[in-house]
Amino acid sequence: MEKLKNLDKIVNLCKTRGIIFPGSEIYGGMGNTWDYGPVGVELKNNIKKAWWKRFVQESPNTYGVDAAILMNPRVWDASGHTSSFSDPKMDCKNCKTRCRADNLISSHAKGKVNPDTMSNEEMEKYISDNHLCCPVCGKCDWTPIRQFNLMFETSRGVIDGASSKIYLRPETAQGEFVNFANIQRSMRAKIPFGIAQIGKAFRNEITPGNFIFRTIEFEQMEHQYFCKDTDGNSSYELFKQKAFDFLIDLGIKKQNLRFKDHDKLAHYAKAACDIQYNYPMGWDELNGIHNRSNYDLSRHQEFSGKSMEYTDPFTNEKFIPNVIEYSIGADRLALVVLCDAYDEEILENGEQRVVMHFHPAIAPYKIAVLPLQKNLSEKAKEVFTLLSKKFMCDYDEAGSIGKRYRRQDEIGTPYCITVDFDTIQDNTVNVRDRDTMKQIRIKIDEIEQFVSNKIVF
Ligand code: ATP
Repeated sequence: MEKLKNLDKIVNLCKTRGIIFPGSEIYGGMGNTWDYGPVGVELKNNIKKAWWKRFVQESPNTYGVDAAILMNPRVWDASGHTSSFSDPKMDCKNCKTRCRADNLISSHAKGKVNPDTMSNEEMEKYISDNHLCCPVCGKCDWTPIRQFNLMFETSRGVIDGASSKIYLRPETAQGEFVNFANIQRSMRAKIPFGIAQIGKAFRNEITPGNFIFRTIEFEQMEHQYFCKDTDGNSSYELFKQKAFDFLIDLGIKKQNLRFKDHDKLAHYAKAACDIQYNYPMGWDELNGIHNRSNYDLSRHQEFSGKSMEYTDPFTNEKFIPNVIEYSIGADRLALVVLCDAYDEEILENGEQRVVMHFHPAIAPYKIAVLPLQKNLSEKAKEVFTLLSKKFMCDYDEAGSIGKRYRRQDEIGTPYCITVDFDTIQDNTVNVRDRDTMKQIRIKIDEIEQFVSNKIVF
């Protein structure tokens, strides 16, 4: 309960401090859509940059791609999304609320049964035996469970005015698969190699809220690693470790992370697990890692008629590569970062401060420039102009210095630079550390090096 209160506090802080706002709010909002504000967009961009640095820039044999959101609908036949990308849903006959049967069971069973391994009939029986009622009106009168496809449909106008059905992609992964041969040839890539992408995905989800945990529009950061079948197991273990290390290096507390193997594997999958985070709502998925055999490329070969075979340059052996898929939601990771960084501290004077202990590399602003008094603003603006060429900086001259420190703590700015009367004399400034609140004196022309050293990821 206490933890859930923290989620409310985080949602509230996000709104008041320009991090995340409810989507289309002035029109009453739209369920499960959220807009990143000026502070939030920096946070999310920094998370994406850190991911790209780790999974593309610093990873040999990894190639980035930015594929189209709208794809030939045959892609979704090949991937299996048109036939089986669905959730078990049922409607309350009394108030017409639509619910996910598996979610209803999970929140009641608290880990004692796993709806992922149950058939629709078994779920209906569990719901009836345990009198699971509608969370909105409280009646227990459900329609039978039906599978609802999660893909958003739209139509594309063609020359003769007719329209044809296409989909907003429900995952970015297919953009990597359909470009496998293009990238392999154009980059002269040799197995093993990876293709990575960051991009929007859309799912027509019915969700219980939980802020940006599950939204209908979100960004994914995905990486497909193409390897020999015989290297599948070791590559899967490698990616599990790489995924975990990335989260730890980003500053996520180890005790809030755990691996969870999937109870039910898809028929083609050799292994699959999630990295879960201990959210205010409880443990749930943050990140998925799967050894998918050569299923994806084989299906694209079958449906497109184009060869997905790779020829080993040393042995001349031809084979369709095995894939290790790594996938994480940028928004879900943003939620994890927000929950993990949030802290309430009691200060020596008895006051409370809320502070976001973001890793400096992903903090929205690296520096806040604060003139001690308004008549120092000319010098302070000079300092801002100088430093903003290198870092994302905030500038604030409104209110007492204490209040300004509090505001910066709440958005996780690692360094506050105060310009005071000594600055005019000797070109030094006061630098306050967000976490320790200790202050040191530094020459203006040494700040760039000082901050650069601290924000390395
Ligand atoms: P879940 O079990 O939570 O529905 P999933 O297993 O369907 O997730 P994947 O298809 O493996 O998820 O997607 C990969 C990642 O994308 C997830 O680990 C999660 O971080 C993110 N993700 C998936 N769906 C959503 C969503 N609706 N909103 C935000 N992030 C999402």
